[in-house]
Order: sequence, then C-alpha cells, then structure tokens
Amino acid sequence: MLLEAPAVKVFDEPRAKCVKCGAPARIRLNYANAWLCDAHFKEYLKERVKGNLLKYNMVKGGDTLLLAVSGGKDSVALMSLLDEIAPELKVNVVAVHIVLGMGEFSDRSLEAFKAACSRARNIRCVTIDLKEVLGMYMPEVIRRSRRPACSVCGLVKRYLLNALAASMGASAIATGHHMNDLMTYAVKNFLQQRLDNITKLGPVSESEGSAVKRVRPLYDIYEDEIRAFVKVYGVNHVDIECPFKTRSTVEEAIKESLNRIEAESPSTLISSARALAKGLSSYPRPASPPNRCRYCGMPASGDECGFCRLTERLTGSPMGPDVVRKVESIAKSITA
Ligand code: AMP
Ligand code: ZN
Ligand code: ZN
Repeated sequence: MLLEAPAVKVFDEPRAKCVKCGAPARIRLNYANAWLCDAHFKEYLKERVKGNLLKYNMVKGGDTLLLAVSGGKDSVALMSLLDEIAPELKVNVVAVHIVLGMGEFSDRSLEAFKAACSRARNIRCVTIDLKEVLGMYMPEVIRRSRRPACSVCGLVKRYLLNALAASMGASAIATGHHMNDLMTYAVKNFLQQRLDNITKLGPVSESEGSAVKRVRPLYDIYEDEIRAFVKVYGVNHVDIECPFKTRSTVEEAIKESLNRIEAESPSTLISSARALAKGLSSYPRPASPPNRCRYCGMPASGDECGFCRLTERLTGSPMGPDVVRKVESIAKSITA
C-alpha cells in the first residue's frame, strides 16, 4: 500500500552510506532522496529548526521563549532539539506543561514531560496544574460548559499560555505543530474558504493585543521525521490519545490523502508548506480583537474575553483576574 512508503523510514540495520560522512546509514529520507546516519539525521533536523527560528525572526539573542509541551512526540522532540539550539542562539527557553487532569492520559503526559525535563540541560521547566489555578480539571470544565471539548480546552490552554508568557516577559510561545497537521488544517480551511484561519497555520502568527506571538519551528518538518527522531533517540513521549478527542473524518481523510500524494510524488508536502509560508502575507488577516476584557484586560472581541465569559458561566464569576494572579506567582517561581 502507498502509505507504507513514508516520507522518512528508519531501518533496523544500515542499508546504505550516509550522504554527509559515508558511515553506515539506516535512515532513508524519501523526500530528499538521501540516506543519513543517526548523528547526521539529528544534526540535519537541528539545523532546519534553528534555520526556521532565525529566518522567521521567531527569536533573537536574549529573548525568552515559552515552549508549550504536551508530552506528545512533537513537542517533546522540539524540546530536545531546542535544548541544543538555545545556547547557540543565546535564547532562554522555558518549557511549560499544563496538567489537565484527564486520567491516565494526563498522568502519562506529565511523566513524559518530567522525563524530558530531567534530560534537558539548558531548559527550565514549569507546570501549571489546572485545578490549582481554576479549582477544577478539564473534564469538569467540559462537562459544565456543554461546549465541544476541543474548543473549551483550546481556549483554556491559550489563556494560560498567554498569561504565563506575559508575566514572564516571553517574546513568543512555541508549539510542537508539525507540517502534516498544519497542512491538513490548511486544506480543510481552504475547502471551507476560511482563509483568515490559514494565516494561523504558518511559521509565525503575530500577536494580538496583549497576547504573545505564536511560533511553530516544526512547520516544515514531516511527522515521519519526528517519528524517526523519537525512535532513533529513544525520546519518551505519550502515545495514547486524549480521551476527549473527537475523530474528525474530514481531517483524517485529508491527512491520508496528503500522505498518498507525498508517496506518489516525494517532497510535494514540504514544497507546499514552504510556499504557503511565503504566500501567507497576501492572505486576509483575522481581525484583531478590538477591545480589552473588562475583568482581566486580555484581548476581547466584546466586553469580556472568552475565558472570563466561560468561567463566569461555570462558576458564577469571571475567573480571569484570579487565574492571572496565580499564573504570575508561578512565573515568579521560575524567574527567581
Ligand atoms: P495538540 O492540539 O494536542 O496536537 O497540541 C498542539 C500543541 O499544543 C502541542 O505540540 C503543544 O505545543 C501544545 N500543547 C497541547 N497540550 C498541551 C499541554 N497540556 N500543556 C502544554 N502545551 C500543550
Ligand atoms: Zn553521517
Ligand atoms: Zn478576561
């Protein structure tokens, strides 16, 4: 089957010579028509991620970058690469994991995060426990809100990340989104003609109001490359799915189709992702929220931000200011 022709494949034994050093190589990059040894594969990924950080002005020397780590393979792999890149670029990286309280999924995610933190030499780590800052974990938030799980969870995570980045003085928030997912969302949004959403799927989305810009250093890295990296380097990560995740058949079909196109015509996806990154400046920009939340001061489209509106519905009072205060004291514990 075509899907058995991944963009990148790791063999158990070397099958050819590394194009960089001639040593025995077991990593096949179909899209680049090349073989690499384990060490040069890591070097290659690291240089591409570093190149993205510089090319798109994601960070500059002296900046603090907040890295959001879920414990899944993508953000854990990014953390491992950034651990080596941070001193070279003289950037301070702080990794944050939000503990959502979703049973085994969250327990294992936290374990993977802790393992990544104990391996990292140049990254400081912090966790935000949702119950400590909000008084309840995500399953209760979802149940009480009666809204789709992913949208509520996304809103809460975005709010916490923005609050932490602002109180730490971070210049950007990095996430582990990789090319296959970003291109899947781009195609889906194209089909729905929600072109302004596509601007949020490139390497950088500019900040809105008091929120901090988002950067995606893995925007042109194949998911297969991340799989290969965690396998070759034995990087711990969670491989179970979020129990609240609803399967989107459209997204799955698009993702599979893109993989099939890539198998038929290697490197199509990486060329498209890079072309999209270049072309994004001509896309319609999403309107910036024009107001500030009357409770917490975060960007808002009406009088209140989405988080204060949500928490007012859940608890009877808007929790934004209280949550921001608690997140500020977490930020102090890292900067101290
Ligand atoms: P997902 O939507 O679950 O694929 O996550 C996308 C990105 O959001 C991940 O690569 C992380 O950078 C970030 N993220 C997701 N969940 C968490 C979490 N619980 N704590 C911190 N960052 C997260
Ligand atoms: Zn080599
Ligand atoms: Zn608010």
